[in-house]
Amino acid sequence: MIGKAGLFFTFTFSLFTFNMILSARWVLPLSAPPLLRGAVRICGDRIEAVGPLPRLLEESDGDSHLDLGNAILLPGLVNAHCHLDYTYLRAVGPDLDFPDWILELTRRKNTCAPDDFLNAARDGARECLRGGITTVADCTDSAHAAQALHEIGIRGISFPEVFGVDDRDPMEASLERLRQKEERLQPWLSDRVMPGISPHAPYSVRATLFEHLNRRSQDERLPLMIHLAESDDEVRALLGKQPWKSPIREGFVQWTAPGERPVAYMERLGLLRPGVTFIHCVQVTHEEIGRLAGSGAGVVTCPRSNAYLRTGIARLREMLDAGVKLGIGTDGACSSGPLSIFEEMRAAWLIQRSTGSPMTTRELVEMATHGGAKALGMEDQIGSLEPGKLADLTALSLDHPTTQGCEDPYDALVLCGSSESVLFTMVGGQAVWDPNRLFAGPCHAYSATEK
Ligand SMILES: [Zn+2]
Repeated sequence: MIGKAGLFFTFTFSLFTFNMILSARWVLPLSAPPLLRGAVRICGDRIEAVGPLPRLLEESDGDSHLDLGNAILLPGLVNAHCHLDYTYLRAVGPDLDFPDWILELTRRKNTCAPDDFLNAARDGARECLRGGITTVADCTDSAHAAQALHEIGIRGISFPEVFGVDDRDPMEASLERLRQKEERLQPWLSDRVMPGISPHAPYSVRATLFEHLNRRSQDERLPLMIHLAESDDEVRALLGKQPWKSPIREGFVQWTAPGERPVAYMERLGLLRPGVTFIHCVQVTHEEIGRLAGSGAGVVTCPRSNAYLRTGIARLREMLDAGVKLGIGTDGACSSGPLSIFEEMRAAWLIQRSTGSPMTTRELVEMATHGGAKALGMEDQIGSLEPGKLADLTALSLDHPTTQGCEDPYDALVLCGSSESVLFTMVGGQAVWDPNRLFAGPCHAYSATEK
């Protein structure tokens, strides 16, 4: 459990304003080319300057200086889609295809107590921090994940999930369950932990419910996150070509299929717009990618989850070339294993390369930082090292056995990076994961080893 002192420090030190220069062999601003012997000046919770170390030292007015040595300093990684409360449901049904896997996940969920979800979300959030992740966009059925994000000190958007597609289930019941989830979230919301809503997917949410939530989202400026075009089964179900198994009762869902492909369906409902983030988008055509790119909506890819569930390979090369706002996420531990963006980037790089549509390691790191921020509509605040942005940073050691000898910093991150080589994770100027006690001074808030 997290001691009360850990929470206390988190808030106490957020009131401090201090200046600090962090330097490293490599600084990756992402919005600009890599800086060899670069540095970042932090003031309070914001980045004040980014540039060559000699210049920042020259401008310094007695700032404390921490040199990380042979390391890469970069923006905190953005896990743009996760289910933290499923962290204890690892490796669900690895032999199952997608529709049956969902039934198995539901069965396993039903064996969990509320405390299991809360503790799972806490451990999942710690795992993210250890892996250099500073922002998590989290879909939550239990609605306990916001508390975990708050306690662990990681930035996030908590999207309570909404279900309700069967004609036998009134829409009011779905909205009442959402109201209860939002009530659970409420005490833990802040500038750091923000609310959204996740209408789960087009095969699990009816059109009128989508329309209602779309209106609420626009009225209250709440971001939406929707699983979309994940599997061929989904496309066929939406087109009315195959039934969909009900996760809550025997037999199939009773509904009128929209008769459209997923992207066209979302467009008709007015959901192809900024403020909406679609997860997966594996089963999309070239023409649909163009519509997604032009809409301003975000897309998040979860390649390990897609491989695990045999749902296909997302056309990431085409999406990037078309200008889709593209982020990357781990999805839940139930379909991906470790909540590691390093592993996710590496899987994406390997899969795309092996299928003849290679991406550069630079593009993968972009997706895991700036791209994720754009996909979530947070690019004004996070995702790159620029003056005025929040001081969300992490650093990777190049002296670790798995990273030694890497010459290119992007290659090091994508091909060799791991949680074990992360030196620290800083959120809003606070070192919330600091296993080496680099920040022994006022910015040390909480070490995720303290459980
Ligand atoms: Zn998901």
